[in-house]
Amino acid sequence: MFENLSERLERSFKILKGQGSITEINVAETLKDIRKALIDADVNYKVAKTFTDEVKEKALGQDVLTSLQPGQLMVKIVHDELARLMGGTTVDVNIKANPAIILMSGLQGSGKTTFSGKLASMLKSKRGKNPLLVACDIYRPAAIDQLKVLGEQIGVPVYAEIGNKDAVEIAKNAVKFAKQNNHDLVIVDTAGRLAIDEQMMKEIAAVKAAIQPHETLFVVDSMTGQDAVNTAKEFNDRLDFDGVVLTKLDGDTRGGAALSIRTVVTKPIKFVGTGEKMDALDTFHPERMADRILG
Ligand code: GDP
Repeated sequence: MFENLSERLERSFKILKGQGSITEINVAETLKDIRKALIDADVNYKVAKTFTDEVKEKALGQDVLTSLQPGQLMVKIVHDELARLMGGTTVDVNIKANPAIILMSGLQGSGKTTFSGKLASMLKSKRGKNPLLVACDIYRPAAIDQLKVLGEQIGVPVYAEIGNKDAVEIAKNAVKFAKQNNHDLVIVDTAGRLAIDEQMMKEIAAVKAAIQPHETLFVVDSMTGQDAVNTAKEFNDRLDFDGVVLTKLDGDTRGGAALSIRTVVTKPIKFVGTGEKMDALDTFHPERMADRILG
């Protein structure tokens, strides 16, 4: 489905070399190629344009024109720039407080509930935490059941108040419960809608204000491509979240949403979801994602 950008660049420079000298005009053509490949990889159009403008300056600065292997050098410049723009290094989740409170946000279907379970499981097994999962979706009883099933699978208790329609109250009670029962980590799963709506935004902002989480994470489906940027921006404007979770990277997207979101909201991507199972979770590595986007 995708043309491999690395090969494409090598090829286009080989053709150019065959034609004699490489000029700035030829580089412009190649940059167009890069831009197209980024858009194919689900990078937002505007982000792809800004990116190629920056790469152009770097390329000209590094004498790509006179380089013996311009294609390879270009690929390296693009790769390094991708990794740099996606943050350069991994960024940890803030779990120092006791209890540390983590709030999930995102659209319905993005993978919030699944990720809540995965994160609880990871922090329990790898960091020795004693988590409490909180079901704060007051609209869909099935969401509470789903979290309970996951909780059972990973051996983590789930706090829920069946029938209570006040998400803020449930969240506050859950934190109180966690303190009384020696849970040093509280993970609050919230309601999502298929599209952003005012009531949902108000509700999650109110939950955030009430429980003052140490970490608010925005969960987004990497398959949503171009839309992911708008959703991320809206959530960030309202919640000023601390980090991003990119789910469903086991699908056939190149993961360009990572670059778009990072560029537009300037918040670190912290985790990637790579499957439906509870252990299908990785910390985000910018270098690896740059490789993936390049193909
Ligand atoms: P929520 O509505 O945001 O809580 O989303 P869910 O956690 O219920 O996830 C929606 C669907 O996506 C479910 O069928 C999950 O199994 C699936 N899902 C979640 N994360 C991943 C992932 O990383 N990879 C894949 N393939 N599926 C996922």
